[in-house]
Amino acid sequence: SIEICLFPPCAPLERHMHPRGQRCSRILREMECSLTARDRVGLQDFVLLDAYTSETAFLDNLRKRFHENLIYTYIGTLLVSVNPYKELGIYTKKQMDVYMGVNFFELPPHIFALADNVYRTMISETNNHFILISGESGAGKTEASKKILQFYAVSCPSTRLLDNVRDRLLLSNPVLEAFGNAKTLKNDNSSRFGKYMDIQFDHRGAAVGGHILSYLLEKSRVVHQNHGERNFHVFYQLVEGGEDDLLRWLGLQRSCQNYRCLVKGDCAKVTSINDKNDWKTVRKALSIIEFSESDIEHLFAIIASVLHLGNVQFDANIRGYASLSNSNELHWLSKLLGIQTHVLQEGLTHRKIEAKAEEVLSPFTTEHAIYARDALAKAIYGRTFNWLVNKINESLANKDSSRKTVIGLLDIYGFEVFHVNSFEQFCINYCNEKLQQLFIQLTLKSEQEEYEMEGIEWEPVPYFNNKIICDLVEEKHRGIISVLDEECLRPGEATDLTFLEKLEETLNGHPHFVTHKLADQKTRKTLERGDFRLLHYAGEVTYSVKGFLDKNNDLLYRNIKDVMRQSQNNIIKLCFPKTEPDTKRRPETVATQFKSSLAGLTDILMSKEPWYVRCVKPNSGKQPGRFDDVMVRHQVKYLGLMEHLRVRRAGFAYRRRYEVFLQRYKPLCPDTWPNWKGTAAEGVQRLVKHLGYKPDEYKMGRTKIFIRHPRTLFATEDAFDV
Ligand code: ATP
Ligand code: MG
Repeated sequence: SIEICLFPPCAPLERHMHPRGQRCSRILREMECSLTARDRVGLQDFVLLDAYTSETAFLDNLRKRFHENLIYTYIGTLLVSVNPYKELGIYTKKQMDVYMGVNFFELPPHIFALADNVYRTMISETNNHFILISGESGAGKTEASKKILQFYAVSCPSTRLLDNVRDRLLLSNPVLEAFGNAKTLKNDNSSRFGKYMDIQFDHRGAAVGGHILSYLLEKSRVVHQNHGERNFHVFYQLVEGGEDDLLRWLGLQRSCQNYRCLVKGDCAKVTSINDKNDWKTVRKALSIIEFSESDIEHLFAIIASVLHLGNVQFDANIRGYASLSNSNELHWLSKLLGIQTHVLQEGLTHRKIEAKAEEVLSPFTTEHAIYARDALAKAIYGRTFNWLVNKINESLANKDSSRKTVIGLLDIYGFEVFHVNSFEQFCINYCNEKLQQLFIQLTLKSEQEEYEMEGIEWEPVPYFNNKIICDLVEEKHRGIISVLDEECLRPGEATDLTFLEKLEETLNGHPHFVTHKLADQKTRKTLERGDFRLLHYAGEVTYSVKGFLDKNNDLLYRNIKDVMRQSQNNIIKLCFPKTEPDTKRRPETVATQFKSSLAGLTDILMSKEPWYVRCVKPNSGKQPGRFDDVMVRHQVKYLGLMEHLRVRRAGFAYRRRYEVFLQRYKPLCPDTWPNWKGTAAEGVQRLVKHLGYKPDEYKMGRTKIFIRHPRTLFATEDAFDV
């Protein structure tokens, strides 16, 4: 017989329908139909079985399961997920019910099992958790995070009032994806911003609020897309799906081909995307997340104005200065942004400079005007995105001050390597290094340090620590960001190439940094002169320095900011406030801001209990059923899965401080119940002896008991029933 429900008998959860008996028999019935021989193909947890210690065997197991559509496998409590690139029908309400309140190891591995386990641990221990979802671009992180959110939305206790919160939590997703995701060569729905979302629960376990932090949106996409890529989804959704009246009001035509910033990548249509339907979803979502009709109007006006701005062209006049070549776009921009035409025109073609006590207008060359126009489009979009996140946060905020616990979901842009990689990839890949470092610190490193601290005998497991690469990027004075910032301080003198030279001087000999000049003869052949290459934990990436200085500075001329401050559009007014600190004091560069926000994120995460989903991409063709051995092996390696497995296998799945363990289980032993007078460690010793723990099942550390396998703990939980 299969032991199913190990749910603590006294836990205060309505949703698990105590008394336990009901729940157990229901699940048993479900399982009888759902657990077939196919579900048991391969090993569902790498930790449990002895044969699986080599990389090849690891891969065999993943592949075997993948071909049976079993995309999930555990390494202890870590979930490995392989993107199936097809609908599997495993995320239904029925499936959610099956996984609710059931122990991790009793059903086939599933993202719902992980979500449920995190939830229950949060309730029973009243503490905060986070789920780190990682993997390269297209591996399935965003899908995983959505499934987790959906699971909580369905499974948590709810009331009419809370349904509201639940809907907003769920609907924040399509809205943010519309504005922050885009088709890239790696992924048709690639996240172009980092997202950390806290879901807040009250003492009954009901989801009562949420908060989103967003990280560095790739706003350069607004003005430029590589071949085969698109701008952010929302633009196509509006043009394809927007109602006739709306488009007329916005001065838009129903064809993406009319908008230069939508067709740079030459692939406005994508078969996997239905922009028309997505528009309807987003439109509905905006209303439910409490955006007023006026907010929505102003928001659409901004999207449209970015499209118009993209079409603004300049001619050179007789003196060689830029003048607008078509007044139609200007007319619509003026109308949509609520700024007088001549003010806009002047802002787009001139720059104000201070000469002595006077301010004079200096005309742009066409090249300069294009630069300023693009900078404006990026600023408008980037700031509107931040406004959107704030607005969603207002709607998710829970004003009640009672104590809440949270589950944080981290879904960021995955590691990516393109044919040409620029500042954006540099930031994205740096972010992935930081998360890998966090993973290492929280698992491989801390796990082993804890054994040492607790005096538990232990054979160290070697692993690659990517701290060296994080330092290479972020170290004070000699890190890449520092060198870049220094060059950004020398306007007029510094160029992308002087930045590269400085890097070469500073980082000469670094084992993870190479350029054409520093490379040996063989490597030199693979590098251009304007490139540098980083040996990331996930592989080599060659970056072109072109645009690094500009993108890091992210300058917007002061007078165009003044122009925007005159806007009658409510959102633009908030995005360009009158009180914005002036450019007199140098604003932080993009990379430095990003570095600080990632440090902030690390602090947030470090204060919570971690859980991991490691997503694996089975092939680079977005194809179902294809498992590319070389590609998967590479990911298994850099994700540190083998090391994790080794540490897990040799280690202990559970550890609890003696006091906590004793408090929970003392009713199970007459010696310790109701009041144990000795030390907690002695009490636990007495308890486990009474429970019949075998010597190899557990170890007594200095302050904690370590239990090798969860099944021992489950059996102990079950003892409450006997
Ligand atoms: P990026 O770093 O580019 O944002 P990602 O890891 O977030 O990538 P997703 O957008 O989650 O990748 O997944 C890419 C695509 O793969 C999805 O749009 C979907 O088509 C498919 N996919 C991912 N996970 C699943 C799944 N569990 N079931 C079915 N299809 C999936
Ligand atoms: Mg994503």
